[in-house]
Amino acid sequence: MHQLYFTPGPSALYPTVNLHLKDAINKGYLSASHRSATFKDIYKETENNLRTLLSLPDNFSILFTSSANEVWERLIQNTVENKTLHLVNGAFSKRFADIATDYKKEAVVYSAKEGEIVNVGEIKEDNEVELVAITHNETSTGVSQPLEDIQKLRNKFPDALITVDAVSSLPIVDLPYDLIDSAYFSIQKCFGLPAGLGVWIVNNRCIEKAEKLENKGIITGSYHRLLSMYKKGKDYQNIETPNVLGIYLLGKVAGDMLTKGIGQIRNETIYKAGVLYYGLQTHPLLNPFVGNERIRSHTVCVFNTKGESERIINELKKNNMVIGSGYGSFKSNHIRIANFPATGKEQIEMLADKINEIQ
Ligand SMILES: *Cc1c(COP(=O)(O)O)cnc(C)c1O
Repeated sequence: MHQLYFTPGPSALYPTVNLHLKDAINKGYLSASHRSATFKDIYKETENNLRTLLSLPDNFSILFTSSANEVWERLIQNTVENKTLHLVNGAFSKRFADIATDYKKEAVVYSAKEGEIVNVGEIKEDNEVELVAITHNETSTGVSQPLEDIQKLRNKFPDALITVDAVSSLPIVDLPYDLIDSAYFSIQKCFGLPAGLGVWIVNNRCIEKAEKLENKGIITGSYHRLLSMYKKGKDYQNIETPNVLGIYLLGKVAGDMLTKGIGQIRNETIYKAGVLYYGLQTHPLLNPFVGNERIRSHTVCVFNTKGESERIINELKKNNMVIGSGYGSFKSNHIRIANFPATGKEQIEMLADKINEIQ
């Protein structure tokens, strides 16, 4: 029986993936050399579609990694000599700070209570900080750091590089690229694609920083050094034999999103989030985990459950609907519902109706 997935990664496939997958096979793209003109054209199309979809300025490059986890490590290796600063709103932002510590960097950590965000007003200016790490959408708890905070951080850290984890919010979030230096996502979240590819967006300041570190004799990694990735990327290639299928599908789905219109997709996301948060408002077993509406995620909706979350999850499974459990220690008392572009308005309405039947 066909299942409807509302899980926050891996997540429901974008409706056109089936078609593009068949095309990729039929056209022989998956056997073509990754040094061929065929591959370079695929890379070029993906890059161009992403640039347009995200309104990415020319001073940013698009690079491919294995996933977002890899980007964390590459950022630490290639842009930090001594000191980082992390806004930790949950498990994913904490993991990035831990990687900085693994690399023996001095990681300054500001942590929020679960379900809340770091108050940027409390962050002290510090001109030794080289990299400021923000998580726009914390998938573990369903909080979003407001975009206004990026401006405040830029004012406090005029010289540092600012990087934004937008793994579960791009392309829904319209990031202020003039204020940041790097952003990244994995394709199995908002883009509704099979897992196995990360996208790392970097500007010239990141490249210059990596050069500076290398000139000092600092090791910035080997096969995925930022500078070698950047150089190959300029020629629409990767260092390694890459995830050609992932790169191809990403370009095609980004193209489909452009055809639909990113404005339309963003509006639908807000509408569907409303169906979930307001449609389930009077549910006797549920209430939104994030109390403050201003910081509630539009793309990952998290609810506290009265009693075990498993009961609701299992009831929905009987209707072939799959939602996420809580993350980590919240496993049994939260549910998480992905509100990504792959999921239509009717599906979210149907889900809310079904959940309301569970009492
Ligand atoms: C899923 C996720 C990650 C990690 O992505 P991987 O693809 O597993 O590397 C990082 N940050 C956030 C906010 C996420 O949701």
